[in-house]
Amino acid sequence: MEKQDQLLMKKQNKNLVLDMIKGRGPISRTEIAKNTGMSPTSISRIVNELHVQGFVRETELVTSGVGRKAVLVDVEKDVLFTIGIEIDKSNIKIAIVNYIGDIVVLKEIHRDHSENYEETLSKIAVNVQNMIEQNGILNEKIIGMAVGLPGYIDYKNGVVKLSDQLFWKEKTLAEDLKRITTFDVIVDNELKMKIISEYFLGRAKDVKNAVLVGVGTGIGSAIILNGEIYRGESNNAGEIGHTVIDPTGNVCNCGKIGCLATYISEGAILADSRKVKDLDSIDDVYEAFRLKEQWAINLLDRTTTYISLAISNILCLYNPEVIILSGNLFEKLPEIKEVIEKKFEIYTWEPVRETVKLVYSQLNTQGVVLGGAIQAQNTLLDLD
Ligand SMILES: [Zn+2]
Repeated sequence: MEKQDQLLMKKQNKNLVLDMIKGRGPISRTEIAKNTGMSPTSISRIVNELHVQGFVRETELVTSGVGRKAVLVDVEKDVLFTIGIEIDKSNIKIAIVNYIGDIVVLKEIHRDHSENYEETLSKIAVNVQNMIEQNGILNEKIIGMAVGLPGYIDYKNGVVKLSDQLFWKEKTLAEDLKRITTFDVIVDNELKMKIISEYFLGRAKDVKNAVLVGVGTGIGSAIILNGEIYRGESNNAGEIGHTVIDPTGNVCNCGKIGCLATYISEGAILADSRKVKDLDSIDDVYEAFRLKEQWAINLLDRTTTYISLAISNILCLYNPEVIILSGNLFEKLPEIKEVIEKKFEIYTWEPVRETVKLVYSQLNTQGVVLGGAIQAQNTLLDLD
């Protein structure tokens, strides 16, 4: 075997062992050997290496039955940290997350609509540094950060190509944020980060094919196929907000006519509501729905029909095992779930409907920061 291949295999084995301890720990060396098919000698060597590097620790536990003490191995949750950040129109969320995916600290900061790119970045940098210091975390334990935001993102280069909601265009976000924080930065569309959190910690755990649909200020989806995020050619796979559902319909901010987003997004619903009544925010629309005002019932009936149609189309395209619904709409108006489930039955083709589970996000408002932190760990952690 070539030396290069040997090194690669060694690295893969080490990752395999660490993943096993992370997923099933506390676990004995014998169990690890049995589950990985590797020899007890190799397991001992790898576990020792991981111990020296600080990734695992030993715990002593009494095994049931025999009563003999067995030494088990578990991961060291504070060996490293990553930072997950979500930016939207009026809010910035920052979370420091440990190695096993627990949020150590989460902070929400108001973002003014008029705030420009530089102001948002320096606000993030200042708050990140404060959070690190206040929680006594060593800078060298932080291996990097991830930013999730709505829009068209060049994931490979960390560039925001276009975010309508933030009014950002061609922003070299990863590079700029690294310059002011010194940390390595990855950037992705928020829903792609959200589905990562569901895949590792939430509703899509142990699932190979899953789709997440987010409905709120906009509508979009993210897709996991065979355990991998499906990005398409320009990272825009899943952007269903710009599928045309009525070529004679409303004008979209993308310049086309009749995009799905123009019927489902909060802004669109509010704009249509204002033709009937003078309202302050989307919450007033939901309140009117609860008070059974007919115009609100009509409007949300159309919204739920379009959402259900979008879901049924996605199911025919990807045939996932799980479809996760998430976003403001379901959090602010939970009673809408029942309506959508009924329409889902009506509009979805039976062969794909029978095999899919329709569920709601478990991680909700923490999904993006958590998924980002996990993605940063998966991307930036390089085991020697
Ligand atoms: Zn559009």
